[in-house]
Amino acid sequence: MKIAVIGAGVMGLVTAHHCALRGGRVTIYERRPEAGRGCSWYAGGMLAAWCEMESAEPLIGELGLESLSYWKTHFSHVVEKGTLVLAPPRDLPDLKRFAARTHAHEWVGRDAMAALEPDLAERFETALFFKGEAHLDPRDTLDALRQKLIGDYGVTIVMDHAVTPNDVDADHIFDCRGYEARDVLPDLRGVKGEMLILRTKEVSLSRPVRLLHPRIPVYIVPRADHHFMVGATMIESGDRTRFSARSMVELLNAAYAVHPAFGEAEIVETGTDVRPAFADNLPRIRRDGKILRLNGLYRHGYLGAPAVARRAAEIVFEGKSFPEVER
Ligand SMILES: Cc1cc2nc3c(=O)[nH]c(=O)nc-3n(C[C@H](O)[C@H](O)[C@H](O)COP(=O)(O)OP(=O)(O)OC[C@H]3O[C@@H](n4cnc5c(N)ncnc54)[C@H](O)[C@@H]3O)c2cc1C
Repeated sequence: MKIAVIGAGVMGLVTAHHCALRGGRVTIYERRPEAGRGCSWYAGGMLAAWCEMESAEPLIGELGLESLSYWKTHFSHVVEKGTLVLAPPRDLPDLKRFAARTHAHEWVGRDAMAALEPDLAERFETALFFKGEAHLDPRDTLDALRQKLIGDYGVTIVMDHAVTPNDVDADHIFDCRGYEARDVLPDLRGVKGEMLILRTKEVSLSRPVRLLHPRIPVYIVPRADHHFMVGATMIESGDRTRFSARSMVELLNAAYAVHPAFGEAEIVETGTDVRPAFADNLPRIRRDGKILRLNGLYRHGYLGAPAVARRAAEIVFEGKSFPEVER
């Protein structure tokens, strides 16, 4: 079966993988000169199915657990060390509220904190530990996925080539253009996210840390070579260009609140992009003849895409239907 995938973000790449696993002959079209340089490039890479349930619908938890299993099965990049959720002592009621709205966590005190994250034990006496969560480096993962598709499955990736579904010839076309697909998905909106990459040798973290914060719930994800991704703002906007001074101040303040040594860190990168989202922040598969539109991953790109892609591939290859996402 001849398959075309438009867009080489996380949604397009994992869709190509699921189709190739089922014997599809896949060509991916990407408008940029390199794969995965859209919204997917700026993600934290947290696979936080349980933490996300604090504000998301149960479907996200279900998709998240399936996606975690996909990443673990196919890639070696997944770090399974859980997530720590922190609050300054004055915001302890917020931490209790977070605990009440989530599950699969345990309370940790100072001794356990010292064992899990020694650099944070002095400032945070108590935290919530979500042991079953994981994280990955999105950029390494996208590159590995691209290489796997080309090397193991003979997938063709046509870069620097913007197309619409009407331009390509295939038995089935998966439209994975993210926020750019709003020409055919008028109910798609943008949720802008700004992020930083800091570098310091003065702080060591083994796992993502979330700080409950009155305005921005900030997280810090450790990456290789003393790098830390600090994210992310959530702004109702389709503007992917402007990083505001206010956002910079708030992200840096929050990082400083987690550990003062972040105040001396080098700012290696600032990034901004737009999360594609529908009104309920849940992903969708929309069928339109031989076109399937896979979109609305919101802040659950790595958490949701593999599970959405598996469903999309089974619609096409096995004639199944999935009412939970076909809306
Ligand atoms: C700051 C930030 C932090 C985030 N953190 C997390 C996180 O920790 N965990 C998580 O799970 N999610 C996270 N997300 C969300 C996640 O990044 C998105 O949900 C996901 O990247 C959306 O993927 P996508 O493939 O749909 O879109 P994109 O990554 O935008 O991919 C769409 C691709 O289509 C291409 N394209 C567009 N138009 C055309 C065309 N006409 N022809 C060819 N190609 C085209 C684009 O160039 C792009 O490469 C975060 C997002 C942001 C912004």
